[in-house]
Amino acid sequence: MPHVRIADLTKRYGSIVALNRVSLEVRDREYLSIIGPSGCGKTTLIKCIAGIIHPDEGEISVDGRNVDRLPIQDRELGYVFQEIALFPHMNARENISYGPTVKGWASDKTGSIVTELLNMIKLSDRGNAFPDELSGGAQQKTAVSRALASGSSLLLLDEPLGALDAKVRAELRYELRRFVKDLHLTAVHVTHDQEEAMSISDRVVVMRAGRIVEVGTPMELYLKPKEIFTANFVGEANFMDVEIAEKTEEGCILNVGGLKLRVRSKAIPGVERVIAAVRPEFISIRNHRVHGVDDWLGEIEGESFTGTVTRYDVRVTNGEKLVVKHPISAEEPEFHMGDKVNLSLPADHILVYPYPEAGLEKETSVE
Ligand code: ATP
Repeated sequence: MPHVRIADLTKRYGSIVALNRVSLEVRDREYLSIIGPSGCGKTTLIKCIAGIIHPDEGEISVDGRNVDRLPIQDRELGYVFQEIALFPHMNARENISYGPTVKGWASDKTGSIVTELLNMIKLSDRGNAFPDELSGGAQQKTAVSRALASGSSLLLLDEPLGALDAKVRAELRYELRRFVKDLHLTAVHVTHDQEEAMSISDRVVVMRAGRIVEVGTPMELYLKPKEIFTANFVGEANFMDVEIAEKTEEGCILNVGGLKLRVRSKAIPGVERVIAAVRPEFISIRNHRVHGVDDWLGEIEGESFTGTVTRYDVRVTNGEKLVVKHPISAEEPEFHMGDKVNLSLPADHILVYPYPEAGLEKETSVE
């Protein structure tokens, strides 16, 4: 039942600081994903946990036992990476039984574990198939089973679905979560795909430039991100550089280039200039003849249909350009380029941050 504790981990490559004093707890039986822009240190971190990379400073312990000096084969973990690395000359059953066989486990014990794993990944009738006879998804499920066959309860997944096509990826992500939950494993999963991370994880770690920006449940990171970087990196957000005009009982009123915006967040003491952020799907868009008192007037400058929603670029009368996502519906009319529309921004879903010292562009940059 692994609980992983990472304390002050630093790894440098010459002048590059791949990990900069990273501390993190991975809870027992948790499915934890790590996301962040390319080069932020995700792979370095998971490879340090695996024992493939040795950090310059810091400590890693599993269940209270320091594993810094343990080589990978003694860390009792399963490691799966993007390149599916099954042995091509062995069938699925032989691939999965590789670890227990090397460890000299009795063949009946190994056989029943392999049968159980093949059942679990729904490949019980393909045990005799060689890797090139299996689909990419089936190969990767076999690789996960092989990683688990020796009894590891800590599973490290480094872009495990990266080589698969979109449809298979989407199906396999839920299967991965099911394995982890059914077998009571602890999983750490590195991915480029934030939707993948959000849909399968108990908690998600957001990294940037060798550091952890924020850790939270998918809902927390989406609805109440503590950092502007997270609000921008996870999903999509509109950002507005604004001033606090008035403090009210329920929150405050912001001045957005002459227009009023009511927000539920409390004003930040001593701060006048703030960044207000709102997710595009929380903005309601209506025909401009039907409007509420606090509505903003705008004109549609761009539209694109994405399948479940239409994404509009709306230029508001104060000059702000906002992205609005509107679900497709049989009853409501669609809007088109040049249409005048009313926007209503929900006070409960406006996030307010102190204006960042480095400026908004730098704060949200993924470079
Ligand atoms: P990606 O999403 O692109 O895989 P990542 O978040 O996994 O990126 P890492 O691979 O951990 O990032 O790399 C972190 C930083 O360390 C990057 O700047 C990378 O160029 C650098 N780096 C990683 N491995 C080495 C190495 N062996 N030698 C020199 N620099 C390295």
